[in-house]
Amino acid sequence: EATVQKPPLKILLAAPRGFCAGVDRAIQIVEQALTKFGAPVYVRHEIVHNRYVVDSLRAKGAVFVKELDEIPDTSQPVIFSAHGVSKAIPEAARGRNMFVVDATCPLVSKVHMETARHHEQGREILLVGHRGHPEVVGTLGQLPEGAITLVESVEDVRAFKPKDASNLAYVTQTTLSLDDTAEIVAVLKERFPGIGGPVKEDICYATTNRQNAVKALAPQIDGLIVVGGPKSSNSLRLVEVAARAGCKFSFLVERAADIPWEKLDGAQTVGITAGASAPEIIVEEVVEAFRSRYDITIDVVTTLEERVIFNVPREVRVARAPIE
Ligand code: SF4
Repeated sequence: EATVQKPPLKILLAAPRGFCAGVDRAIQIVEQALTKFGAPVYVRHEIVHNRYVVDSLRAKGAVFVKELDEIPDTSQPVIFSAHGVSKAIPEAARGRNMFVVDATCPLVSKVHMETARHHEQGREILLVGHRGHPEVVGTLGQLPEGAITLVESVEDVRAFKPKDASNLAYVTQTTLSLDDTAEIVAVLKERFPGIGGPVKEDICYATTNRQNAVKALAPQIDGLIVVGGPKSSNSLRLVEVAARAGCKFSFLVERAADIPWEKLDGAQTVGITAGASAPEIIVEEVVEAFRSRYDITIDVVTTLEERVIFNVPREVRVARAPIE
């Protein structure tokens, strides 16, 4: 039997990668609500920005809607996504007597609480984030229109005209680039030395760890494959981190079928990571796709162990469902 010799390729898997505690909790909330209350369970917005996750929950009876008015009168659970929501959304749900289960990540809720505290203290607030991302929409919606100004770049910070420069505070989106944000915050502090801000930072542990893992990997690889959805902010940032660290290529793929093989030509070592909303089963699918074309060896490059777990709220809690 003729066997075709496959070219050798070394794969380095970044660790940590993939699901964070907030995503794991959000998916468990939908899974356990389905187990406890049966279908349908309504979910406002994609529970997390991953099509595979959304499709598999939909197959089990989750109904995804953009807005609450698409949901009929029901006593079934209505779940808010991990990204958080504006204040107006739970209010509207209360008005309709909905059984709400909030899957907002506790680390996003923490940012919401920071904005409330700054506002109570009479401060004008800047939010560093990406316009239109649901987390940003939710955070802006914590306070009355105009209380928070969104800044996306150093230029935005330079152009910002405060009402009272001595009475400012900033918060950030949780899934930003560490390096870009450091730059923006430096300019904020340079322009407004007294500005209040988070004690540590609002970029979450999972975003931080995944970016640092890619930085550690970058010098050892020709290029990086990031498993993640096109709307996943933290996944997109991993692609940028690799490119800036000097990788010859870095691509976002939702599934193995998206890998642009022709652009990998000549690569000897490829890194693989996954955004915080990407399931490990897709990483395995990607590795198998490499195995079918190359003679692969696999190593894991671990920068640190994560032990963060967020509990599922009591009202939906049942035995843990397996995540597929
Ligand atoms: Fe929470 Fe961070 Fe995960 Fe977002 S990426 S759900 S903030 S842990």
